[in-house]
Amino acid sequence: MAKVLINKYDKFLIKDLNKDFHTKYGFFKKEDLKKKTGSKLVSNTKKEFTVFDPYFIDLYKKIKRDAQVIPLKDIGLIVAETGINSSSEVIDAGSGSGALCCFLANIVKEVTTYEIREDFIKIVKHNIDFLSLKNVKIKNKDIYEGIDEKNIDLVVLDLPEPWKAIESAKKALKTGGFLVSYSPSVPQTADFVNEINKNESFVHVKTSEIIEREWEINGRKVRPRSQQIGHSGFISFARRI
Ligand code: SAH
Repeated sequence: MAKVLINKYDKFLIKDLNKDFHTKYGFFKKEDLKKKTGSKLVSNTKKEFTVFDPYFIDLYKKIKRDAQVIPLKDIGLIVAETGINSSSEVIDAGSGSGALCCFLANIVKEVTTYEIREDFIKIVKHNIDFLSLKNVKIKNKDIYEGIDEKNIDLVVLDLPEPWKAIESAKKALKTGGFLVSYSPSVPQTADFVNEINKNESFVHVKTSEIIEREWEINGRKVRPRSQQIGHSGFISFARRI
């Protein structure tokens, strides 16, 4: 059980409702934290916040992050272009902190995530538990050596050498299924797409980079926020034929 406290100036996720919650706006008594969604809570310094039960995204933004995780803008494109839904079966590799894996698990039927490093698997397990996800399987395996699952709708790669997973993906995917690769650099992206182009079993659909510009709006002071995400990665989409 967790709660969100929000007002126009700030937002907090409270994970432990059994002790008073201290903020720079004063503290909130533990008896108040359990009040129902929509209640107004007032701190000891008379600052008012609204309390609500967290949505998935409120918890997701607080997961542990160790490896470089895919930003939301890029996950958005993967979800939109593949149209995955509650009947989709997905393979994810490598798990890293499990950010992409967990986000997809909230949408699809099942995600199986492959990761070679045990220290990352611990983080993924922690995050799955924190988000109460019941549809994730973790495999401590090298995806370049093969994928055990069959009839998969989407294989997503976030790996240093994604072209080495093309053969594994080929055997796992349904005809028409998607192979998506996310890479931070141009040579990795080119090597992956060139391999796809040579492969009779795949069609390259497109490669894109998403540039998001967040704006600050305060009266007539309307301008792009000064701190933005710089470059994250290129996303390549292919289909199994
Ligand atoms: N998409 C992840 C981040 C992935 S970072 C997220 O959103 O959190 C890349 C991960 O791939 C690392 O954890 C690395 O250990 C793992 N990895 C590298 N090669 C691999 C392989 N051959 N098979 C499985 N995992 C691999």
